[in-house]
Order: sequence, then structure tokens, then C-alpha cells
Amino acid sequence: MPELPDVSVFRDYFDKATHNKKIERVDVIEKRILRGTSEKELNKVLKGKIFKNSDRYGKHLFAEIGSKVGLDIHFGMTGDLELIDDLSKIPPYTRLLFVFQDGEGLAFEDQRIFGHISLVNNLDDLVSQNDLGKDALTITAEEFHEIIRKRRGKIKSILMNQSLISGIGNVYADEILFQAGIHPEAKGSRIPDDKIRKLFSTMNKVLKTAIKYEAHREDFPTKFLINHRRENDECPGKCGKINVIKINGRTTYFCDACQQLY
Ligand SMILES: [Zn+2]
Repeated sequence: MPELPDVSVFRDYFDKATHNKKIERVDVIEKRILRGTSEKELNKVLKGKIFKNSDRYGKHLFAEIGSKVGLDIHFGMTGDLELIDDLSKIPPYTRLLFVFQDGEGLAFEDQRIFGHISLVNNLDDLVSQNDLGKDALTITAEEFHEIIRKRRGKIKSILMNQSLISGIGNVYADEILFQAGIHPEAKGSRIPDDKIRKLFSTMNKVLKTAIKYEAHREDFPTKFLINHRRENDECPGKCGKINVIKINGRTTYFCDACQQLY
């Protein structure tokens, strides 16, 4: 599932794929991918235009078209982008296709259709319409501290709550907690101040490292948990076996020996 580092990579890809390209039309192959707009409206807004600028916020991509209009692209569970040069051979799970005047197309693929594309006025609107909290890479240490300290819920659920902190999903929540040495079921309000500071710096470090490796998880440093997400796999700290539990229905990997429960 695309999380903040993956969407950062999508953004770079989007920028390269759409650079200076005039949009000929938009083909909507699966209507369920649209939220609050239609194929007709998208074509009216996008035809003859060029994507001017882009931004990433949490797990969303903002694609600016003009000063007061842009797209909110959310990748859901299985979203992806692919630039194609032969419009007769679009990828199998293409839900929407931007066709450019040079004959190329940019496919938005999403096998499970948990993603969405909608029209927004600007980035602020994208944030408010999706009820997003501060982005995980721009939230300050003080803001982060306030969020964690006040909540009695499980720390993994707090980190994954997009309306509190935006950008972290199941895999990176596990990774950040593993590297910070905090048990995923630790209660936010019980975590000591110095550990919250450690959690904040670890969150930044993990997300930035992932972006540095262009979100290619198999290339990440061996001390990361990410390539040990299997029951009974060995902890990268060489202290024992990886444990598996469910938190809010999500499969959670952690190490009982490395991660402290508060
Ligand atoms: Zn361990």
C-alpha cells in the first residue's frame, strides 16, 4: 500500500511524465475512481492545459493545473502511475488515462479501487476535504508531542490516524516503532517524554531513508524490519523471532525483546 515515501516517488514520476505536456483529453475507464467529479467536468477543466506544479501531502498527490484548480490523487491500496507510448496497450488495471497531445498517455492504475481522483481548488482544500492532520515530514516536534501525549489509544493506531498525522500506513508504522524501540500497543499517554522525542526523530529518519532509496523496500538497510515481515523470521537485532499481532485488523510485526510496552 502506497505510504508517504511511495507517494514521494510517484510525485517525481508524475513530474517527469507530465513535464510541459499539453493534455489532449482524459479517459475515465472506471467511474468509481472519481470522487465528486465526472469525466465531462475533468475534460472541461483539463483539456489543453499543462500540469504546472505538484506537491505531496501525506499519501496524496496534488497536481496543480491553474491558480485555482488542481487534482487530488490518492493511491489507496494499489494505486500506481505508468507512462505509456502506445495508447492501444494500456495496463490492465488502468482506471483513468491522461492523454497528451504528443500521443503519450499517463495511466492511473488501481487494481482494488480504494484510491480516488477529485478536483480541488488548491492544496489547502485537499487537506481539509480529506480531513488530514499535519504531514509526517513537516509536523514539528512540539506538535507531534502534543498529539501523542494526549491520547490513550495504541501508539500504532495514533501514528496511522491520517487526521492526526498524515502519511504513515501499516508498514511504516511498524518500522518506525521497531526502530524507536516502542511496542505497537504502547499507550500514547504513557510513553515517556524522551521516548516521544526519540519516536519523532526516528519517524523522520525512517521516512527520509525510504525516500532516499526511492521506496524500493528490498534495498533498505538490513537493520530495517521491513524485509522481515514474516512470522518467525529473525529480528534484525538478532535477539529472537519476530512477533505478529493484529491491531485494528491490521497485521502488525514487532520484536518483543527490542520494543518496550508502556
Ligand atoms: Zn529484536
